[in-house]
Amino acid sequence: MYKINATDLMKKTMGDYFLSLDTGANKVAWCTSVGPAELLRSFGFEVFFPENHGALLGATRAAMDYIPEAIKCGYSGHVCSYTTADIGSYLKKESPLKSHYGMKGHPVPSIIVYNTNQCREVQDWFNFFGNEYKVPVCGVHPPRHMDEVSDSEVELVVQQFKDIIPLCEKVSGQKFDIDRYKETLRLSKEATLLWQKVLKTSTAANAPLSFFDGTIHMGPIVVLRGTQKAKEYYTALLSELEDNLQNNKGFLPNAKTRIFWEGMPIWGKLRMMSDLFTSNGAAVVASTYCSSWVFDKFDENDPWNSAARAYTEIFINRSEKAKMKMLADWFEEYSIDGIVYHDTKTCFNNSNAKFGMPQRLKDITGVPFLVIEGDLCDLRFFSEGQSITKIETFLEQLEDVKAVRQ
Ligand code: SF4
Repeated sequence: MYKINATDLMKKTMGDYFLSLDTGANKVAWCTSVGPAELLRSFGFEVFFPENHGALLGATRAAMDYIPEAIKCGYSGHVCSYTTADIGSYLKKESPLKSHYGMKGHPVPSIIVYNTNQCREVQDWFNFFGNEYKVPVCGVHPPRHMDEVSDSEVELVVQQFKDIIPLCEKVSGQKFDIDRYKETLRLSKEATLLWQKVLKTSTAANAPLSFFDGTIHMGPIVVLRGTQKAKEYYTALLSELEDNLQNNKGFLPNAKTRIFWEGMPIWGKLRMMSDLFTSNGAAVVASTYCSSWVFDKFDENDPWNSAARAYTEIFINRSEKAKMKMLADWFEEYSIDGIVYHDTKTCFNNSNAKFGMPQRLKDITGVPFLVIEGDLCDLRFFSEGQSITKIETFLEQLEDVKAVRQ
């Protein structure tokens, strides 16, 4: 049975993080998962990420109890189920943050900051909480869906980052300190580069980290960017995975096929999906999702431009042309035999199978694809039986294609 021992340290790291939000020692800022967390941390805020809470609600399947609460107060059941699950959890005053981590519930924010580099939904979601808690909400609205990100577009985002400073100073009571910001960005860069190395261990034939394990181990890079803790955690994880590489230990030795996962995880079905692929001899070795927290452009010596560029160039914020190039490069790097697109019902932004891209990418790369329908949190949109049949048939076909090629 393959086991990643660093999981215990990861659980402790995440548990300590959640409790740090609840001590009242520092003010709390809420931030989107790819928002300017480093800037907020430089003012001494603890940073809470509602999307991480959404993922927790999805993984524990509690989301299914809370989404109807948000629908009752006017949110469509077809909008982002992180949003509806999180709002429903707040309205019901229930959360795994209480039951699993001993917190009082959502940590009370002093300021709420979002970046629409991923979607506009975060703006509505965060404004709901701004109204509830009567705290300031501010956003970064970068240009979207670009082939390339130009210097003038980076400048625009830099200015928007800087525009947040006066509000942060007022709320935190601390003057902006460029050296503290640089130091936070340096820590963030070091953690993100370690995370990148962690992901790249699975370019090996006997990959030590599956996509499904990656979704669990990415917790600290989402919520603890800019801290020593994140760096320490990924140092430990990388060291273990590199040892496993040396000892030829992987999660699926002799995998028959290597798969790329595109789109959001189906949080409530991670275990089932992981078992489904491995029992069919398929190693899911890479994903767009886990790679979304690799910000290798961070540079503490050029903190404004590098952070603005890194956060604007992310996969979800790019044109189809740029996405296809990134995917084709990953196919090569990870020796991919097939790609599974998760067409996520309530996240249009992170679903790339709606406008014919899978076929166009196959025409260029020759990599076969499968589209499955589902959702990040709302399991009403996921048909388990149908998905199993589709995936098993696809994997059989991939094996046949490989056999013919060999
Ligand atoms: S990217 Fe998708 S899942 Fe994430 S907050 Fe936006 S709509 Fe929700």
